[in-house]
Amino acid sequence: MKKSAEEQLKLKLQQAGNKNRLCGVLIEPILAISMRFFRVFSYLKGNVKRFFMLAMTFFLFAVYSSFSFPIFIRGDKEAQGETKDVMSEAPQDIMLAEEVEINLEEIELLDDADVLMEDEQYAETSHGMDIVARYSALDILESNQSYTSLEKPSKEVSGDYEFSEDDWRIVLINKQNSIPDDYEVKLGVINTIKGPMQCDERIINDMLDMFKAAQEEGIVLEVCSPYRDFEYQQMLFNRKIKRYMNKGMSYMEAYKLSNQVVTVPGASEHQLGLALDLVTTDYVDLDQGFADTDAGKWLAANSYRYGFILRYPLGKEYITGIEYEPWHFRYVGVEAATVITQQGITLEEFWEDYL
Ligand SMILES: [Zn+2]
Repeated sequence: MKKSAEEQLKLKLQQAGNKNRLCGVLIEPILAISMRFFRVFSYLKGNVKRFFMLAMTFFLFAVYSSFSFPIFIRGDKEAQGETKDVMSEAPQDIMLAEEVEINLEEIELLDDADVLMEDEQYAETSHGMDIVARYSALDILESNQSYTSLEKPSKEVSGDYEFSEDDWRIVLINKQNSIPDDYEVKLGVINTIKGPMQCDERIINDMLDMFKAAQEEGIVLEVCSPYRDFEYQQMLFNRKIKRYMNKGMSYMEAYKLSNQVVTVPGASEHQLGLALDLVTTDYVDLDQGFADTDAGKWLAANSYRYGFILRYPLGKEYITGIEYEPWHFRYVGVEAATVITQQGITLEEFWEDYL
C-alpha cells in the first residue's frame, strides 16, 4: 500500500514534468525530496510503539527531575529530624517576593549604640538597669576598694596547663552554640556612683586588676552595660531588623545584616555576664575607631594578663561570624587568654586545638 502510494506520486510528478518544461527542470529535486519524506514517514509508521515508549520515558524523566527532586530533598531532611534553625523557619518566600535592589556596600551597619539611642525613654531604664550608662573605671575602683585589696600571685602560665571542657570560663557561645539551658549566670553587683553594675561575680577581681593596671598607664576605661539579659538582647536585635526594613530591605536581608552586628539573641556573651564592652573617656563610641585609641591598643596587648581576650578580632570574621569589635572583651581566665592572645587565635580555634 505505501509502496503504491509512493509509485503513484512518482508517476503523477513525472507526468506533470512532461507537460511543462519548467516543471521538467524542477521535477528531479522535488522527486528526490518527496521520496525521502515518504521513506521517513514509512519508517516512523513502522516503529510507532518504539517511538512512543521513547517519548514517554523522556517525559517521565523531565517531570521527575523538575518537580519531584526538590520535594524529595525536603522530605528527606524532615525525615532525618534535622534541627531547624531560625533562618529556615523565617518566611523564605518574602525574599522571592521582594525585588528591591539593595546595595549592601552603601548600607551603614548599625551597631548597638545606634539602636540604643533610638528610643531614649526605653533606653534609660530596662529591667531597672541604666542601660546606656557607661561606668567609669575610676569610679568603679574607688567604690570597690575591698576587691582590689586582694594581692594576687604572679600570673605565669605553665606550659602544661590542662584545659577542661567543663570550665565555665571558656564556655563557647556563638551562632552555632547558644547558651546551654542549664547554664547558671552567677551575677555579682558592683556599686558605682551611677548605680549598680552587673557582671559575673567571678570575674570582678580580674576586671578590677585590669582597670587598675590601665589607670597606672594613664588610661581611664569605661564599661558599657556588661550584663544584658535575654529580653534586652532580643530588643536590640529586633530594633536592628526594624531599622533595616525601614530602609527597604526584606525581612531576610534585615535579619542577615542584623545578625552580623549584634549577636543573635541566645548567643550573646553579655547574657553570661562574661563580656565587657570597653571604651575610654576620650572615645565613647562602640566602633572600629576604638582600635586606634591608646585604650584600644593597651587592651588588645594587655587584657590577656587579666584573663580577657579581644573576642572578635580583625580578619577572623569568617570564624567568629561577627564583625571586628575592638571594644568587646570576653573573660576566659588567664590561662586560656594567654594561649589565645599569644597564638593570635579565636576562642573557636582554641576549642579546636586545645580541647
Ligand atoms: Zn559586646
